[in-house]
Amino acid sequence: MPDLKQQLLNMQRQLGLNPNEVRERLRLLLIGEPEFACLAAHLPALDRLHADCIDALFVHLSRFEGSAAVLAEPGRMERLKGQQQAYFRQLLRGPYDMQYVRLRVLVGLTHERLGVDLKWYLSAFHFYLDFMHKAIGRHWHAEPKLAEQLYGCLLKAAFFDITLTADTYIAADKQALQASEDRYARAVRGANDGLWEWHVEEDSLHLSERWLAMLGLDASRAPRTLDDWAALIPESQRGRFMAAVQAHLEGRQPFLHYECELRDSWGRLIWVMIRAVMATDLNGEHLLAGSLTDISQRKQTEEALAHQALHDALTGLPNRQQVGELLSQALQRQAKPGARHAAVLFIDLDRFKLINESLGHQTGDQVLIQVAKRIERCLRPGDHLGRFGGDEFVVLLDDMAKPLDAELVSKRIMHALQYPIIAGSRRLAVSVSIGVAPLTGRGNEQDALREADLALYRAKAFGKGQLALYNESLQEEATQRLNLENALSEALSRDQFELYYQPIVQVSAGRAQVVGVEALLRWWQGERLVSPDQFIPVLEESGEIVAVGEWVLRQACTQVHQWHQQGLAGLRCSVNLSSRQLQEPGFAERVALILKETALPAASLVLEITESLLMRDGPETLATLRELESMGVRIALDDFGTGFSSLGYLHRYPLHIIKVDKSFITKAPNDERLKAISRAIIGLGRGLDMDVIAEGIETPEQMDFLHNEGCQFVQGYWFSRPQSALAIHPVLQRLSAIEQFEEGEQEAVQAPAIVQ
Ligand code: C2E
Ligand code: MG
Ligand code: MG
Repeated sequence: MPDLKQQLLNMQRQLGLNPNEVRERLRLLLIGEPEFACLAAHLPALDRLHADCIDALFVHLSRFEGSAAVLAEPGRMERLKGQQQAYFRQLLRGPYDMQYVRLRVLVGLTHERLGVDLKWYLSAFHFYLDFMHKAIGRHWHAEPKLAEQLYGCLLKAAFFDITLTADTYIAADKQALQASEDRYARAVRGANDGLWEWHVEEDSLHLSERWLAMLGLDASRAPRTLDDWAALIPESQRGRFMAAVQAHLEGRQPFLHYECELRDSWGRLIWVMIRAVMATDLNGEHLLAGSLTDISQRKQTEEALAHQALHDALTGLPNRQQVGELLSQALQRQAKPGARHAAVLFIDLDRFKLINESLGHQTGDQVLIQVAKRIERCLRPGDHLGRFGGDEFVVLLDDMAKPLDAELVSKRIMHALQYPIIAGSRRLAVSVSIGVAPLTGRGNEQDALREADLALYRAKAFGKGQLALYNESLQEEATQRLNLENALSEALSRDQFELYYQPIVQVSAGRAQVVGVEALLRWWQGERLVSPDQFIPVLEESGEIVAVGEWVLRQACTQVHQWHQQGLAGLRCSVNLSSRQLQEPGFAERVALILKETALPAASLVLEITESLLMRDGPETLATLRELESMGVRIALDDFGTGFSSLGYLHRYPLHIIKVDKSFITKAPNDERLKAISRAIIGLGRGLDMDVIAEGIETPEQMDFLHNEGCQFVQGYWFSRPQSALAIHPVLQRLSAIEQFEEGEQEAVQAPAIVQ
């Protein structure tokens, strides 16, 4: 609140109270020198009458509850009487100048501030004039003319004060009203809301400037009735707006709160929030008054958030949650009679991990975006493409004429991805594997996705760029695989693994001599002997191959060292490695430790790795292989010819032995092309000063062929099937003495067959 002095100045300015104005007021009341002179001549008598008047006034006031309480305060009455006395003295004496006027205004202001109503003021003046009228009449009863003159002067002086007081009160009221209006206007401006009032009975609308500006309207185009306004709301939301208004008018809702769109003068839709509450005016008429807030920004944010929650940030495609929703809608449609066919495709990029890891995530992201675009182009409106994160996409095909169409679309997608993708400065060949599952309308969306995923798993098992359809046997296989995984996870601790050994034989001039053994892992699942092709991939997937591989290494080294001591000195021990093992930090040290523990010389150990392992791995693999080589361990490249057979690997990695895959050897004698390939591999190895071992020798023809090509090392059923340590020992002993290789055939027949 401004201080009283400032308020006084403001008031003085507002009332225009300058000397001229004061003079004019005095003239209006016909107050001049004669009046002053008249009063001045009878001051002592009038002062006395004033004292009586004050006593009577306070008696009168003490009859009123409000004032009685104030006057009852100790000492209050005396103080107030003193003030009143001083005031009356001044009223009689003047001078009625600016000083006098300011004092009057100040008293008026103070009383207004204290909440003394004007009625008290005016009543007090009336009491005073009434009392003085009678008192003067009585006192000067002998001089009625003088009495009349004196009273007339008093009346003028009192009215001078009354008008000043009344003006002060009115101006203070005006100021308060103005302040309140200013406050209101400021709040409205600050809120940036439009205001509106609807006169219910008259159906007339009053809209603020801001209301109109929000819609780009001017006063001439302002809606005049509620229907005019409703016409700006899109039809689909209009009925609900009217219903919301009605609900509030009828008292079913405590206030009106409605969010809808409004069409602005440019035809655009903006989101607004309409709020109002009903009031009754002085005449009992109903007014619905409230605000209009532009909430377009909030709506946009809400929509963006809703979109984000349901879409993948990278590609903008529906995410897992949204696909689930779309799928469940599709399933509901499928469950209805007469529904056409629908299917889910689970799509996975082949080798995407490699792209991501070798070229970086930015390139990976570009690839994903382009793949998404290409897949999208293969779909019809109404089909949906979603991304489940990583390189997994899901397509929902709806409304197909026949189930086969899903396959056709899948092939179209594969075809669309045949051409390289340009990511930055690179051209990348990508391919996808696709699992297809029909939507039957039976299970839920999770079932549909699981079925498509199972089909994808099958497709991946076939290799890259394959397509597989879901059928019920896949589910069975998956269950079996799960059972297998569970059983396998306990195989090591239950001691169910066993190593079989197969001799590696050096052949020269028709004589054979064993130079080593390859340790081959077997799993006894109860009575059943399971082949490594069936369980090694499972161990690799779960990561357990690391622990199992270490067991194999320790077991094989222990066994071969034992054979060394039993007279088979120099026998080499070949152990297969999985890429996971090689990736383990400190793998070379672990090998060194095992060699030390088992006392096998490093030169007796051969570690077999495959091309695919080299393809996937980076500089760490090379470093590990170099470390192993420096220890004296030899490295063999297994299954050569089945992978990419890049000659670069032979040059780049420390490799000592090439193992020609058995698929070449099996058919080589009768197939000219395979013959040429085998010949080339053998020549290559010899040229690079590497030993070449031919795998899978089963027949004398194959032996002849290899012999002719100058391949000295062989391994195969012809000499012996892989057998347990116990069973292979006599075979090794016999093969350790140089002998004619034709004799080996007998052992092959005796070897136990693996249960598949
Ligand atoms: P591989 O390293 O190429 O092993 C040679 C495979 O050829 C063995 O199959 C062996 O039984 C089979 N074989 C040998 N001679 C002949 C023959 O004359 N004819 C035919 N048809 N096959 C012959 P196996 O023991 O079933 O092992 C399969 C694969 O499992 C191995 O291929 C190797 O890649 C993997 N493996 C075996 N043991 C281990 C292991 O301890 N660790 C790892 N990581 N992989 C292993
Ligand atoms: Mg091998
Ligand atoms: Mg092999």
